[in-house]
Amino acid sequence: QEPPCECNNCYTGKDCSVLLKDCPVDANSGDPLFLEPFWMREAESSAVLVSGWHRMSYSYQDKTFLSRELEKVIRKLHIVVGNAVTDNRFVIFGCGSTQLLAAAVHALSLTNSSVSSPARLLTSIPYYAMYKDQAEFFDSEHLKFEGDASAWKQSERNDNMTQVIEIVTSPNNPDGKLKRAVLNGPNVKTIHDHAYYWPYFSAITHPVDEDLSLFSLSKTTGHAGSRFGWGLVKDKAVYEKMNRYIRLTSMGVSKDTQLHVLKLLKVMVSDGGGEIFHFGYGTMKKRWETLNKIFSMSTRFSLQTIKPEYCYYFKKVKDFTPSYAWVKCERPEDTNCYEIFRAAKITGREGNVFGSDERFVRLSLIRSQDDFDHLIAMLKKLVSQEDVPS
Ligand code: PMP
Repeated sequence: QEPPCECNNCYTGKDCSVLLKDCPVDANSGDPLFLEPFWMREAESSAVLVSGWHRMSYSYQDKTFLSRELEKVIRKLHIVVGNAVTDNRFVIFGCGSTQLLAAAVHALSLTNSSVSSPARLLTSIPYYAMYKDQAEFFDSEHLKFEGDASAWKQSERNDNMTQVIEIVTSPNNPDGKLKRAVLNGPNVKTIHDHAYYWPYFSAITHPVDEDLSLFSLSKTTGHAGSRFGWGLVKDKAVYEKMNRYIRLTSMGVSKDTQLHVLKLLKVMVSDGGGEIFHFGYGTMKKRWETLNKIFSMSTRFSLQTIKPEYCYYFKKVKDFTPSYAWVKCERPEDTNCYEIFRAAKITGREGNVFGSDERFVRLSLIRSQDDFDHLIAMLKKLVSQEDVPS
């Protein structure tokens, strides 16, 4: 039996329902607790019991590190949602898509012999900071992070001697937009990061059919702490290089995690995803309605806009309900948007972390309901002060 959860630091009282006055709200990390109420409802059906002597071996019976049962459920999930083609693809597991990102970049940067300089890693601004941080931390002689893909295109488009890796994040973190690759050509390889391509956050416009696509359990079921992600890989040689990376860094993914994920995904697919996607999209839709109402009263701050698209999962045209608000400070004097929000006791993530301007700040909308309600209370206060002369 686990001890009861402690109150979130802004709440107090016996049942943690009393909000402390003027406590700063954390809207920084994309901790996807918005799905927790769904899993509370499914407490029994999603529970796993493991006896002490079970699953002790490093590997499965077929001598791999990968549960074939789990692989089958993942393929089924993609068919149910219609967000990815899995035929003729290898499936690879990682400790979060974070590990798979490193594995994919490693695999694609092992250049062929005709290319001598390090591979360039490019993406579009604003981008998820992990791409840059990993590249700089691992500091491989085979790879250099170079930032903006469209800038590279103009300046070096005729350079055939350089291997290029473009990471396309669709929907994008931080702004939630659907993205396409900017670069193409014989020396260009693309990694598609689809962590957010689920009906909670985006219209499912088509099943993606790419050479290398990555998905994350964190944004699929909300179990970010289980550290599980998977990749769909077309090319056998790339798959084998990624597999070697996973073997040498962690000898595969925890079998306990794989069992837990199997159970969670089985619950998800049992009714065609109906329950969890309706719950999750319903929650995000309500949150965006509340947020849009507040920002419609502001001239100082604006939100990103994304045109509604037809969603093949919900079979209707659907508003986008991204994980994050990508907020712009519109007044010329508000040069650092993060600081403006921080002074109002709202902690977001600075625009420059995403390679963007300090006029932007990212606010997470996928945290717990308490965190979201608290964020709304603080935003209302900030926006209501706009007309008060200072
Ligand atoms: N890609 C993107 C775009 C993300 O936002 C995140 C997590 N915030 C990840 C990958 C990493 O996810 P994981 O928890 O599976 O490592």
